[in-house]
Amino acid sequence: GRRADGSGVVVIGLGRFGSHLAGSLSRMNREVLVIDRNPDRVQRWSAQLDRVVQADSTEEGALRQLGVASFGRAVVAIGASVEASVLTVLALVELGLPQIWARATSQKHAKILSSVGAHHVIFPEAETGERVAHLIVSRLLDFI
Ligand code: ATP
Repeated sequence: GRRADGSGVVVIGLGRFGSHLAGSLSRMNREVLVIDRNPDRVQRWSAQLDRVVQADSTEEGALRQLGVASFGRAVVAIGASVEASVLTVLALVELGLPQIWARATSQKHAKILSSVGAHHVIFPEAETGERVAHLIVSRLLDFI
């Protein structure tokens, strides 16, 4: 159900990363609001996720209308477009979101995200690569 206690999460961008993130949060019974500007992606995911809406997340007014300001956390999962990712973080900062997580695709991208006000910057590909490397090495040790 709809909660206004700030425990919900807004996920922006339904690429591979964003869609898995939104699905995981839903399965953990978190209230999730998912936003993507691509109508085909919205259509495709609306069967599996509770609240998927089509909007341009760089538009502060659109986010406000969707009630984004009442959420405690937002994750900007946009990767390919640095401009869209940065402008989205900026809009979330303007709305006063208490916890903004943003995905970076490079160190420079990460710097910009932090300087406009993202609270947490994440590198999904780098983090997964590192984790898998550790997994492989620990499995290798099993055979020595
Ligand atoms: P992934 O690596 O996670 O698969 P991707 O590279 O396929 O991501 P991106 O281009 O990073 O895709 O974008 C992820 C999603 O973000 C796309 O579905 C895209 O429509 C959405 N998106 C991009 N810009 C905006 C925006 N301004 N407003 C809302 N959604 C956006």
